[in-house]
Order: sequence, then structure tokens, then C-alpha cells
Amino acid sequence: MEPLLHRLHLDPQVLLDAPAARRPRRASDLRGFVADPAALEELIRDGDPVIYETLEPAVPPEPGHLMYGITVLYPGRVGREYFLTRGHYHVQRETAEVYMGMRGRGYLVVQRGPGEARALPVQAGSILYVAPGWAHRAVNTGDEPLVLFYVFPADAGHDYAAIATSGFTLLVVEVEGRPAVVERRAAGV
Ligand code: ZN
Repeated sequence: MEPLLHRLHLDPQVLLDAPAARRPRRASDLRGFVADPAALEELIRDGDPVIYETLEPAVPPEPGHLMYGITVLYPGRVGREYFLTRGHYHVQRETAEVYMGMRGRGYLVVQRGPGEARALPVQAGSILYVAPGWAHRAVNTGDEPLVLFYVFPADAGHDYAAIATSGFTLLVVEVEGRPAVVERRAAGV
């Protein structure tokens, strides 16, 4: 394929020039991925809003290529839990990913096993390296969209099922009007 050139527009709307794919994920796409399923069902009944979307170019999912794009994660909460992406391992566990914060604030929650979980703060200008073998998800704790640029080996693949089954052990929830990172078993949500 030919080289591609994009410009990132941050205002008034976040757009990657001519993305080949724009994938909205609604509340109903988060079933099985949130701490409070009843609150999620309420959100779905109230109009099933778009929680986040990804914009990507047409890069083939083949060895040697790098897939990249933009995640736009909107502000809000499901119960006490801040809006989040589903999160995934890479099918090829030995592959890494780089994220860069473009706008907004929140966390990248990463996990390699039940005892190895971290919530890395992210805002505009943050560059995060997700080393091979770590599941990862974004959480928006602000009141504007959290916009992240990402790049990873195009043939890495997404494994949503493994982390959905075990669950992330760290949750980012609202406590007395402020975001707090808590252990799932202590969350009571
Ligand atoms: Zn990834």
C-alpha cells in the first residue's frame, strides 16, 4: 500500500482526515464489561448512547504494518463507574501498543494478571507504553471527551473475551464527586 498522511483536527470536532472506518460503541456494546449491569441496562433503555468510537485508516491487518487511530471516549458514568472502553488483550500476547493523550483526562487501566494491575493517569501530552502481555482499557474521568491516539502491530488482534471473563481488578469510580481508583472487590458497585 501507499504511505498515508493525516491531519488531526481537535476543534471543533475531533476527526482524523477521511478515516476508512469509524466504529461507534454504544452502551449495549458494553454488556459484560461494566461493574454495574443494572445501571447499564437503564442507560440502554434511556437511548443507548454512544460511549466511545474509534477512527482508523485502511491499514491491512498483516505482519509488518502498524495500525493506528483515534479513540474518542465520551464523558459520563454507568452507575458510579466512569465511561470506559471494553478493554482487551492482544491475541498475539507478545505485541505492545503506544497511546498518546490528545485531549481530556482519565486513566489507562492495565492488567497482566489478578495481582498485577495499574491505573495510569492520562491527559493531553501523556505518552503511555503498554508492554506486551498487558490488557488495557481507557477510562474518562473528565467532563469532555478523552481523545487518545494509538498505534500497535496491525496483526496483533483483539481478545475481548479473556479480560471480560476475568474482569479488570481496578475500577475507576466516582466517590464524593471525585474519581477514585478502587479494587473491584471493595467497590460495592
Ligand atoms: Zn490494544
